[in-house]
Amino acid sequence: MSSQGAEPSIFSRIIAREIPATIVAETDRLIAFEDIAPQAPVHVVITTKDPQYRNVVELAAGDPGLLAELVRVAQTIADERTMGQFRLVFNTGAASGQTVFHVHAHVLGVVTVADALGEGSLGSL
Ligand code: AMP
Repeated sequence: MSSQGAEPSIFSRIIAREIPATIVAETDRLIAFEDIAPQAPVHVVITTKDPQYRNVVELAAGDPGLLAELVRVAQTIADERTMGQFRLVFNTGAASGQTVFHVHAHVLGVVTVADALGEGSLGSL
C-alpha cells in the first residue's frame, strides 16, 4: 500500500490538477480541498504535496515541522469557516477507515451554533 512505485494517489492527481477539486487553501507544501463526501457541514481534507508519507505516524517521524504546519492550516481554515473550532482526524490504517494512503487530515466542523446543537452534526469519521 505504499505510494512509492505505485500509481499516483487520488490526492496527487488533485495536486497535479488532473482531477478537479474545490481547493480552499494551499501552501508550498500542503493543499486543502473540500471532501467529496462530506461528513459534517464543513469537511476539508488537508494533504501534503509530497506523497512519501502514507499516514500521520510516518509524517510525524519524518517531518514534524510539516505536521505542525498542517495543524496551523487546519486552524486557519477553521477560523474562516467553523468559528475557529474543529475536529482533526487522521485515519491511520485500513481498519481505521483509511482509504487513501497519502497522509491527510480531515478538518470537520460546524458553521453556526445551531449546527453544533444538531445531533450527529460532526458525523462518524
Ligand atoms: P480516508 O478514508 O481517511 O483515507 O479519507 C479519504 C477521503 O478522501 C474520504 O473522505 C473521501 O471522501 C475523500 N476523497 C476521495 N476522493 C476525493 C476527491 N476526488 N475529491 C475530494 N475528496 C475525495
